[in-house]
Amino acid sequence: MLTITDGQTTIGGVAVSDIVAVADAPTYVYDAAIMERQVKRLRSAFSSFPCRIMYACKALTNIAILRLMRSLGTGLDTVSIDEVRLGLLAGFEANEILFTPNMVSFDEIRQAVELGVHINIDTISVLEHFGHEFGSSVPVCLRLNPHIMAGGNERISTGHIDSKFGISIHQMRHVQRVVASAGIHVNGLHMHTGSDILDADVFLQGAEILLETAEMFPDVTFLDFGSGFKVPYKPDDIATDVEDLGRRLGERINAFNATRSTPVEVWFEPGKFIVSEAGTFLTRVNVIKQTTATVFAGVDSGLNHLIRPMLYNAYHHVVNASNPEGTPRIYTVVGYICETDTFGWDRKIAEVHVGDILAFQNAGAYGFAMSSNYNSRPRPAEVLVQHGQARIIRRRETLADLLATQTDV
Ligand SMILES: *Cc1c(COP(=O)(O)O)cnc(C)c1O
Repeated sequence: MLTITDGQTTIGGVAVSDIVAVADAPTYVYDAAIMERQVKRLRSAFSSFPCRIMYACKALTNIAILRLMRSLGTGLDTVSIDEVRLGLLAGFEANEILFTPNMVSFDEIRQAVELGVHINIDTISVLEHFGHEFGSSVPVCLRLNPHIMAGGNERISTGHIDSKFGISIHQMRHVQRVVASAGIHVNGLHMHTGSDILDADVFLQGAEILLETAEMFPDVTFLDFGSGFKVPYKPDDIATDVEDLGRRLGERINAFNATRSTPVEVWFEPGKFIVSEAGTFLTRVNVIKQTTATVFAGVDSGLNHLIRPMLYNAYHHVVNASNPEGTPRIYTVVGYICETDTFGWDRKIAEVHVGDILAFQNAGAYGFAMSSNYNSRPRPAEVLVQHGQARIIRRRETLADLLATQTDV
């Protein structure tokens, strides 16, 4: 996380200028201490009931980060077979990994079964196929759609009526028939309503639905509430009150477990909550351009490296890391891609000069992970800061990387 003290900008105790001297820009920088703080915060908020944190690794999949998560004691939530493989490579045990695919080929599910990870199924026809092939020999978790509308962003909201995710709770009778006829062993129930939940109420509504549904499945050993934990992006943003959630959910889970012969474990799958604030994206200013409308600060990056502002209208706070105490002026921060790629309009930033390093905050989640080679631009480097040391965990790409998979070179 970015800190400014005595005119110096640091991340995890390391000067940004030192990081840039080694890794250059543009570069993603991750602060291990912040990820650790976030995992510990969840663990302490949910300490009153049996709980497991499954880091949703699609947010940031660098293997060094996966290893860090493992050292912090999390499991892994994965959405593709190669995320499963990355998790195993990082040292996770198969039973610490949950595979939550959507619309993948059955062959991919079969591969995940062979690798021995937990399987989460979100479609009745797939469940039928699964029962036909594996019967009761491989336990399965069911992803349900409780039809809870979370947040305001359609694209990242997954629980609504038109969503492609999950099995509708109104289809449970059909599910029960499929489960009974193939003798399927249902060991978990799952929901993930979206990525922008503001308060505990949505979780508790969903929890109620999952707990009710669990009555139908006596072999269920875990209930997975997915994610949706919101982190502050703007200085005055409200974050999910995980402590309040923990207290209220704890009461409900403990009451439920008192009625069960085997208590259920509660799983969560935070991605953003753990890695967003830990990440800073460092870019260098190429051009200052005054137009009739505004002053543009153009950086050596764009929607190819950080697409969230353009895709989700996401806000990333921008700080001039080279001149943090300069006179604040108004800038529109844009990228170099030949398409409109505005990071932010009318941002108050300490006076910017060509060559300055602009730092985008909250860039740990869905930053590098969603980057591309659009405009034939290599992807940036990644740096992990830990114990006061900065270490490159992914080198910058080069033209050779752009050509590596082409066969007519
Ligand atoms: C994306 C995703 C998550 C993580 O969401 P965040 O908003 O990053 O916390 C968790 N579970 C599933 C199934 C997902 O697809």
